[in-house]
Amino acid sequence: MEHSGTEPQPCTDPNCRGQHPPAERVALAVSLCAARGNKLTTLRRDVLELLWESGRPTGAYALIEALELKYSRPVGPPTVYRALEFLMSQRLVSKIESRNAYVPCVHPERQHDCLFFICNICGASTELEDPRVVQVLAEDAATLGYRVDRRVVEVEGACSNCVPTGAV
Ligand SMILES: [Zn+2]
Ligand SMILES: [Zn+2]
Ligand SMILES: [Zn+2]
Repeated sequence: MEHSGTEPQPCTDPNCRGQHPPAERVALAVSLCAARGNKLTTLRRDVLELLWESGRPTGAYALIEALELKYSRPVGPPTVYRALEFLMSQRLVSKIESRNAYVPCVHPERQHDCLFFICNICGASTELEDPRVVQVLAEDAATLGYRVDRRVVEVEGACSNCVPTGAV
């Protein structure tokens, strides 16, 4: 799958592991928000960009520090939390509850549940979409009579860069 060009293109590759240039994903987010009548303000956009650049779950305070450096002025935590709330409401960002940190969704243009693999050694996170997991969770929820509002699945371990192939 080619992910080049200046116009943000929705990704149509079902096996994509999210190897998109951050700038392309941010541009796509801008157009997704615009299509829904929402505005990706500078701050919201900067927060999203920082999350893309980070490549790993990032906490609010690391974001605040990076923003203060970028703007050369203090940035209040509530401002950043509001931006994160907005980005989550647009499904552009997910919160990794176990780490109290945030990651951008690789394919916000596709309806899906986010399944994150997080490396405990290097901290990198990889997002997958696996309809099988979604199916199993939906069946389990039905068995329990549970109404599911939000599904974010987190798997922790060691990534293939940190564990040599065959050692697992
Ligand atoms: Zn893709
Ligand atoms: Zn996602
Ligand atoms: Zn790793």
